[in-house]
Amino acid sequence: MSFFDRFRKKSTETVSNASAAVKKEVKKDSKPAASATCPSKTADSVAAAQLKPADLGDLLPGAPPNGKINLAIYWAAGCGGCDVSLLDVNERILTIGDMANIVMWPIAADGKEQDIAAMADGSITVSIINGAVRNTENEHMVKLLRKKSVIVVSYGSCACFGGSPALANLIPGGKDELLDYAYNKVPSTANFQADYHKGKPVLPKTEFKAPEGVLTLPVLFDTVKTLDQVIDVDYYVPGCPPLQETISHMLKAVADFAYKGVALPPKGTTIGVVAKTLCDMCPRRKEYRRITKIVEPHEIDVDPDLCLMDQGILCLGPATVGGCNARCTRVGQPCRGCYGPTVAVQEQGASALTAIASLFPVLEEDATMGEDSIIDIMSTIKDPLGYFYAYTMGKSLIKRSVVEKGGK
Ligand code: SF4
Ligand code: SF4
Ligand code: SF4
Repeated sequence: MSFFDRFRKKSTETVSNASAAVKKEVKKDSKPAASATCPSKTADSVAAAQLKPADLGDLLPGAPPNGKINLAIYWAAGCGGCDVSLLDVNERILTIGDMANIVMWPIAADGKEQDIAAMADGSITVSIINGAVRNTENEHMVKLLRKKSVIVVSYGSCACFGGSPALANLIPGGKDELLDYAYNKVPSTANFQADYHKGKPVLPKTEFKAPEGVLTLPVLFDTVKTLDQVIDVDYYVPGCPPLQETISHMLKAVADFAYKGVALPPKGTTIGVVAKTLCDMCPRRKEYRRITKIVEPHEIDVDPDLCLMDQGILCLGPATVGGCNARCTRVGQPCRGCYGPTVAVQEQGASALTAIASLFPVLEEDATMGEDSIIDIMSTIKDPLGYFYAYTMGKSLIKRSVVEKGGK
């Protein structure tokens, strides 16, 4: 049996016995590894690593000299949080109307698909698109906006990396299995089907001939895609959702371009992040203690100053690009990686796993653990792929689950 098979078997056993796992207590006296505390991280270096908000001035100064720009904001497969996050610019949101004609913003304005289709190609200065591409409507709209726009910004983790919608790529049977689960297996819908469609469950149709004409619904794709897997993207603004500091840098780039003709950053730039990892901006003291047990924050009294990994809490900080000023770890919650990987890393989940693996006591100088012990510990992670790829499944090399020949 391979390592992975044994890990998978153990994981399954552990999930079915999750309550027993929770009762275990963390060993608080695990020793620092030979490398001891992180020498390069100091209060000054952490302060210097923080992302400061861009200075937009009190308010944007009326209309740009060459007239208002056209701005479109669109949501594809997302939760709406990215749209709401734009309100984090506070009162400046009111002055964005001075800078731009908002030609589309489904959550807040009335621009329709046909309005956009009627515009000349390239007549929208900036389209800010959040959400992943999960169905034919998403695909049509992002292609249309690309055609009409000079600049396209991939906004938020769903657009940039697939986000939580792309976790559905782990369903081997694709959209059919997804719809079957949602409409036939979830208790509320299963009860509804049993009560109202006895023996003949009804699933959403993508086309219906009504007396007034044919009604259609978007068709789901088997595989959720990131925005740049469907259209050419100019800039990336990560986060679930992007935070105020990050958004301010995007707005400043657009405002400087519109008001002063300042050149935009090079195409492909990720805006509103720093060149370092989240660990560099996290104030917690890192001692590189060896992991002998994995716990969740609610299972222990979390030390407010010590690195969460040192306390056995899985934190994706080492594999995540800095941009949020360590919002979660400052309040005792591990980073789940919503800002995505650093530029040096393609595979955020694997990178996080590597960082964790390096903390097991398996090195020659402090070998106290064998493979079985590690599998036992790792098996207490109830949903490893969901944990390590919570935001980046759409960009991962794993891509998706498939059904092999023979149906296994
Ligand atoms: S990135 Fe997060 S906040 Fe934005 S749409 Fe996706 S799930 Fe929602
Ligand atoms: S708590 Fe997380 S982000 Fe902070 S230093 Fe530890 S691993 Fe890095
Ligand atoms: S700490 Fe991690 S999960 Fe939390 S906001 Fe920052 S990048 Fe996202």
